[in-house]
Amino acid sequence: MKEKKQGITVKKEQDFAEWYSQVCLKSELADYGAVKGTMIIRPRGFAIWKAIQNYFDKNIVEKTNTKNAYFPLFVPEQFFKKEAGHAQGFSPEVAWLDKSLTQGEHIAIRPTSETIVYDSYSKWIRSHRDLPFKINQWCNVVRWETQATKLFIRSREFLWQEGHCVYETKEQCKKDTINYIKLYEKLCRELLAIPVLIGEKTEKEKFAGAEKTYTIEAFMPDGKALQCGTTHELGQGFAKAFNISFLDKNEKQQTPWQNSWGLSTRLIGAVIMLHSDDKGLILPPKVAENKIVIVPIGEDKKVMKKAEEIKKSLLSLNPILDNRKEYSPGWKFNEWELKGIPIRIEIGPRDLEKKQAIIVRRDNNEKKPIKLTSLKKTINTELKKMQEELFEKAKKQLEKNIIKANNFKELVKGIKEKKIIQSNFCGYANCEDEIKEKTKGATTRCILFGSKAKKKKCINCKKDAKYSVYFSKSY
Ligand SMILES: [Zn+2]
Repeated sequence: MKEKKQGITVKKEQDFAEWYSQVCLKSELADYGAVKGTMIIRPRGFAIWKAIQNYFDKNIVEKTNTKNAYFPLFVPEQFFKKEAGHAQGFSPEVAWLDKSLTQGEHIAIRPTSETIVYDSYSKWIRSHRDLPFKINQWCNVVRWETQATKLFIRSREFLWQEGHCVYETKEQCKKDTINYIKLYEKLCRELLAIPVLIGEKTEKEKFAGAEKTYTIEAFMPDGKALQCGTTHELGQGFAKAFNISFLDKNEKQQTPWQNSWGLSTRLIGAVIMLHSDDKGLILPPKVAENKIVIVPIGEDKKVMKKAEEIKKSLLSLNPILDNRKEYSPGWKFNEWELKGIPIRIEIGPRDLEKKQAIIVRRDNNEKKPIKLTSLKKTINTELKKMQEELFEKAKKQLEKNIIKANNFKELVKGIKEKKIIQSNFCGYANCEDEIKEKTKGATTRCILFGSKAKKKKCINCKKDAKYSVYFSKSY
């Protein structure tokens, strides 16, 4: 038998960072690119992104009357300069084309597309009848990170979607910006089995050029939060900078309100970190490309024939039939566990006699015999249960890790213990910097939706608190 070494060699609990890279690499989701800080998304990883795209287009783009489009990768320098806050926020990470190539023109590779999109909007939007104007694009962006990169979580080029909408009124804009973040939360819950905290970013953490940023934050097993998607109320700043205007019902020239919103391949990183275990990848069934693997035991011809029949009856679940002769069943079990196939079907001569097969669930290792006549129905039920239970398990984990701190000592202790700390906060950026320093890295993740902290004091500076926030370390 030709059996090479396989499997994850470290435990999730012991060395989380190493465990994570091994899962990404060995389950064949991703690989490192030739240029430092870049990544290759392999077919098994891209299938997860495709599942996210399909859900997104159906449940978010179509349902909100948004249209998909595509804008160029290259952005003229003068576009960046038009919105000062935006330019300042992104300038350290922008990659530029060599001027010898562009006859002296300074051309950037998009770190995000607000400026290039809004230049077009200024030509396309004329009347209140054009509004709301909603476009989404699926694309890559480049941010020349100086921080250490990590597969799916932080790379110099990544894939995402970015939505860009224009509205007549501030109220419409706000309502939609909040609606989009709620739809992001739903995507995480329904598709990826990821529970998130949903809220607003503080002054310090909001998007460069935005009035308000809303966020969904997932919490990883190593005690760090992972920002999974953001939506931004841009106010009228970009509209003014790019001369976007419309004629209202009374034929008066008006400046519109805008938002932008995005989520990226980072979500795949969250799925891996949250659900997977020491044996390798665990995927929520809804995003698993192959939901089933069938492993025949022995080389009995009748067993092989039955395995083929089972495969045919389960085609909608895109099953893999692993009938390779050079590997033992045990080796195959390990391989498909490593690659995160949600359910394994084993069938041998004795099972055939009893007109049954054994099914094994990847997430809880539950093993049970199922009559062949009810195999399809049982598998569909188990896949549904697995999807729900992964979410419930992660949700319990999240809730268990949220702690309320009443004083600074409790905050420091909680952060040290890798918890998410809820506490009252003044909202000032300098105070947030101070907290980050004193806790060795904790930042505000979000302001709880609807939170007011009347008559309460800030946990650090003791000034009047503005609201209640979550603090934690983050990716
Ligand atoms: Zn403060």
